[in-house]
Amino acid sequence: MKATYDPAAVESRWYTTWEGAGAFKPETNPDGRPFSIVIPPPNVTGSLHMGHALDLSIQDALIRRKRMQGYAALWVPGTDHAGIATQNVVERELANEGMTRHDLGREAFVERVWAWKEASGSRITKQMRTMGFSPDWDRERFTMDDGLSEAVRKVFVDLYHEGLIYRGNRIINWCPRCNTAISDIEVDHEDEVGELAFINYPFTDGDGHLTVATTRPETMLGDTAVAVHPDDERYREAIGRTVLLPLLDREIPVIADEAVDMEFGTGAVKVTPAHDSLDFEIAARHDLEAIQVIDTGARITDAGGPFRGQDRFEAREAIRHDLKNRGYLERVEDHHHSVGHCSRCGTVVEPLLSLQWFVKVEPLTGPAMEAITAGRSRFIPKRWENNYLRWMENLRDWTISRQLWWGHQIPAWYCDDCDETIVAMEEPVRCTACDSSALTRDEDVLDTWFSSQLWPFSTMGWPEKTEDLATYYPTDVLVTGFDIITFWVSRMMMTGIHFTGEEPFGDILIHGLIRTPDGRKMSKSFGNALDPLELVEEYGADPLRLALLQNSPLGHDIPFDEQWVDASRRFGNKLWNALRFAVDVIGVGDVPSSGGYPEDPGPEDAWILSRLAATTAEFDRLFDKYRLAEAYGLLYNFAWAEAFDWYLELAKTPLQDDAGAAADTRATLGVVLRDLLKLFHPAIPYLTEELWSELGDGELLITNSWPDPPPIQGPAGMETLQELIVGLRRFRSEHQISQKTSIAVTIEDPDGVMGEWWADHLTALAGVEVIDTTSGPADGGGATSRVVAGPVQAFIVLEGLVDVAAERDRLTRAVAQTTADLERSAAKLDNPDFRSRAPVDVVASEELKADEAGARLEKLEAQLAELG
Ligand SMILES: [Zn+2]
Ligand SMILES: [Zn+2]
Repeated sequence: MKATYDPAAVESRWYTTWEGAGAFKPETNPDGRPFSIVIPPPNVTGSLHMGHALDLSIQDALIRRKRMQGYAALWVPGTDHAGIATQNVVERELANEGMTRHDLGREAFVERVWAWKEASGSRITKQMRTMGFSPDWDRERFTMDDGLSEAVRKVFVDLYHEGLIYRGNRIINWCPRCNTAISDIEVDHEDEVGELAFINYPFTDGDGHLTVATTRPETMLGDTAVAVHPDDERYREAIGRTVLLPLLDREIPVIADEAVDMEFGTGAVKVTPAHDSLDFEIAARHDLEAIQVIDTGARITDAGGPFRGQDRFEAREAIRHDLKNRGYLERVEDHHHSVGHCSRCGTVVEPLLSLQWFVKVEPLTGPAMEAITAGRSRFIPKRWENNYLRWMENLRDWTISRQLWWGHQIPAWYCDDCDETIVAMEEPVRCTACDSSALTRDEDVLDTWFSSQLWPFSTMGWPEKTEDLATYYPTDVLVTGFDIITFWVSRMMMTGIHFTGEEPFGDILIHGLIRTPDGRKMSKSFGNALDPLELVEEYGADPLRLALLQNSPLGHDIPFDEQWVDASRRFGNKLWNALRFAVDVIGVGDVPSSGGYPEDPGPEDAWILSRLAATTAEFDRLFDKYRLAEAYGLLYNFAWAEAFDWYLELAKTPLQDDAGAAADTRATLGVVLRDLLKLFHPAIPYLTEELWSELGDGELLITNSWPDPPPIQGPAGMETLQELIVGLRRFRSEHQISQKTSIAVTIEDPDGVMGEWWADHLTALAGVEVIDTTSGPADGGGATSRVVAGPVQAFIVLEGLVDVAAERDRLTRAVAQTTADLERSAAKLDNPDFRSRAPVDVVASEELKADEAGARLEKLEAQLAELG
């Protein structure tokens, strides 16, 4: 084997081998029980970030383990067409060529986007391959491919005919930069300091005025009423009168409506139905006109009189200025409020009255909530349930139309000759009402989430009754971040249940966010984001994967430290060196793919086999609860401390023994290393596959069986032996005794825990010669020192080994120091002031200090007495 582990050289070889062997396909286990995961489809414009790296490392670990456990394990990959993001990419390209999409026209533009997708849309899936992820690429899907597009059309048409999709004039969130409607959850609310302007609206009868407060003075141009709460005593007399809208001199009524918040501003509010959703509802109750004064480009419309053509923020200044000059502005206050921004581009969102398509969500939310409350689907950690349920309860109808060209065009046609709207799977030839052939298709496309909500079943072939759908749907687990519970998880639940009658997944595993080491959000725009591909370049994919899995405890954000990746690489080195030692030095090889555990092993082998069995059982228990960080932490410690540090040393003795014991130990070492490679494979697939190719019987590890070592009783007293060896080694180094000098000891073993096999290890690992063992008080014969390990004590003959006088001096000084420590602690603890005033933990730590000093003193005095 090569002397050093070089991730780059190891990793580049295996991916093609696995794929060529069909190892990623569930058919590799034709008789296995199905297990399935669908990937949260990344944007086709995207490249892999640390969040993806974690999310996908978890999914790959789950899939690889299930595959090895014999399941027909399917992981469906794919990408999302990402309407706004992808259209933006191509529009930027066009802008560089001095064109807009309108210069190309719709058809040519969409062709251009497809061409971009073919050329550049596979960056993220290539990066997934680099990381070693093992989805079944033959089942890769794209939200705009033919099958998924048909599923989208069917869902739209069916929901429309069920009355769950409708078209209507509603207030929607409009992004003037992206030039499209966006849904409520695509709006980021940020707390900002703005201004609250108090404006006087004079009564038309000339008797006084009403004062209204607003943060958006420019919307006053569209006011069609002033509203007060019916119970508000201050305005009892005002209701039913009319006021004059300043600047435009329009006469508008004062109305009473219960939706008015008496606490806000003066309690009298302006009503702008075309630019505020609450006002829109008030207007509907009072039959008020809606006047649009801000257009889709965020400019004032013709209805805005002298302000027409101005940008909304420019108009805000101008209107405030005019109001002030003409004496309508009473005052302006600073005002903290929440302002909605487009989550894609950051532009302030404008509420606009607009004709859009909506999903009526109320009939869909009930079953989606019940799936969780009845426990058919489970959030892990459970606390995300509340987040999901609360959101569902408050869900408003979902705006699904987008004013884009890239996406699924809405399958609705309008008759030019009558009022008919035809919603159908295929393009209609004639109007179903008047038989006209003059039909115009709706220009809009559907929100990207409308197609991704179908992902768990559309990727399996729905609406066709495919074998995949029957076998792999519902999926077993969804792995995702909490930030898309509302966007995506909830909608998959609603449509999944509505169209298939089953929850789309059983477990919903929500992982934390990757943050900077000091806990801040990682972001490209802050310049503090780690690039997983750069980390792979420097350390290898396996070290990054292990670092991610091992440091992501369930339910916590991860302050990711690059040093973790380096630590994982060092662990990879350790694993490499252990294998190299086993193969090249000990001659372990041709280890069978499964079984092969020695039947009647010696004590060292029995010990490591018992630890292997216990560790595997605990690893599986943790893994099944998705506690991957703890599972891999446990395995890491077992591998490093027990298998490599202890067992490789303990094995030296039987390996020198007769052929039978040596063969058993070689076999044990082989199966322990094999099972370790298997257990580690889901986290570090490349390195384990490479090492298995050195150790194993020629089969691939990826499709090998999961380890199931038989439980076995280890020898008694192993921990005591280890403690004794450690103590004797410490004695040697404290007294600077050369490794070549043998130390003679007498062992006192009152409980008889010492096995006959210990003596050889004490010699081999601690350089000790056992001259006697006794159950009664040992007589070292002259000056001795001792090492205590549990119930066992080793008495070391000091004569000829160390300078007894110097040792006595050392111990005397240590006794004096410890006595002083103890007295100081005791004085503190005897002081009632200290006990009553110091914090509880300080008192407790002082008590602990005193106890430890007492125990140390007792030991030192005994050692001093032994010296005579
Ligand atoms: Zn935007
Ligand atoms: Zn018609």
